[in-house]
Amino acid sequence: MNSAVEILSPDKFSLFSVREIVESRERAFSETRMTAIDCVDDLVSDEYKPKIVSNVTFMFTLWLLRYLDESVLTSKFINGQRDILSSELEEFADEDIEDYCRRMGMNIDFDVEREIFSVPFDTFIRNNTRISGEKYRLSYQPVDKGIVYANRDVVIKIAREFFVKSAFRTVENISMNDVVDVFEPYADFISSMRILYDQLKSSRKVDLGAVDSTKFPPCIREYVSEMKSGVNLPHLARFTLVSFLHKTGMTSGEIIELFKTAPDYNEKMTVYQVNHVTGEISGTEYSPPKCAVLKSNHLCYMGEDTLCNQEWLRHPLQYYQIKKKHSK
Ligand code: SF4
Repeated sequence: MNSAVEILSPDKFSLFSVREIVESRERAFSETRMTAIDCVDDLVSDEYKPKIVSNVTFMFTLWLLRYLDESVLTSKFINGQRDILSSELEEFADEDIEDYCRRMGMNIDFDVEREIFSVPFDTFIRNNTRISGEKYRLSYQPVDKGIVYANRDVVIKIAREFFVKSAFRTVENISMNDVVDVFEPYADFISSMRILYDQLKSSRKVDLGAVDSTKFPPCIREYVSEMKSGVNLPHLARFTLVSFLHKTGMTSGEIIELFKTAPDYNEKMTVYQVNHVTGEISGTEYSPPKCAVLKSNHLCYMGEDTLCNQEWLRHPLQYYQIKKKHSK
C-alpha cells in the first residue's frame, strides 16, 4: 500500500516523544532534528521547498513551529505538506484513498461496484469552503440521506482541506509551556530565528548595537586575521566577510578600511566589490552564506567552539546575534 504523511494523534506522538527526539543520540532521531531545524531555517529565510518527510519529522517540525509561533510560517509548512499529500493521493488506488482518509479521521466509504465515494454531509460542507472550481461544489454532487456521493478528484480536494484543518488543530493544541520546557536546548536557535524573521519581514537591519569583533564567529575572525597577516583570501571568504560586516552594522567606509590591510589591496576594485555586496550599486543587499556552504568550501573554522558545535547553528550571523544577546 502507498503511504503519505499522517498527523499522529497525541497517544502516538506526545511530549514524551518530542523529549525523546531532543535528547536521543540515536542517528534516526538526530536526522529528525536536523531535518526539522533545516525546515524552520528555510521557512524563516524564505528558502523553503516542500519535501517528503516522515510522520515523526512532520510532527516534530509542527512542535518546533509552535515554539517559533509565527502563523505565516506554520501555514507555509502545512500547505507545502498538503500539496505533497494531494499529489501522492492522486497516485493512490481508490481503496487506498479510502484507507488514508479513514486513518486521519475522515470517515468516507468507497463503493467498489459503483466506483464512487460516500462522504458524510457535514464533512463535505466543512471542508469544501476554500475549494475553487464548480465541479467541486456541493450542487454538482448527488446527495442522499445526509451522504454526498463524490468521485476521487473531489474526495482528494476534501482530504487536502481536512488535512490542513487537522494539522492546525494539532498545533493549536500543543501547550506553549510544554514546548518551552522540552525545547530548552533550542532557546537560542528559536530566538535567533525570530530576529532573522523580523529582519526579513520588515526588510530592515536589526540594530545589533555597536560592532563587537570579540563576538564574531571563528570563521570571520580567521578571515580577518589571515587578511591582516598578508594571506590572499579566496573570493567566497571575502564575500562572506563583507556581507557579514555589513549586516553587523559596519559602514562601507569601515569595511574598505579593513581591506586596506590585504596584500593585494586594490582601492577601485575593493570599493566596487564592497558597494556591490552591500547593495549600494547592485540594489541587492547580500547576506553571508550559510555555515553548510562555508563548510563545503573548507572555510569553516569551528574547531571546538561550543556555539559552532550546536547542531542547530546554521549561519555566521546567527552566531553573532546570539553572542551579542548574551553579552547584554
Ligand atoms: S560553524 Fe558556521 S559560524 Fe562557526 S566557524 Fe563554521 S561557518 Fe563559521
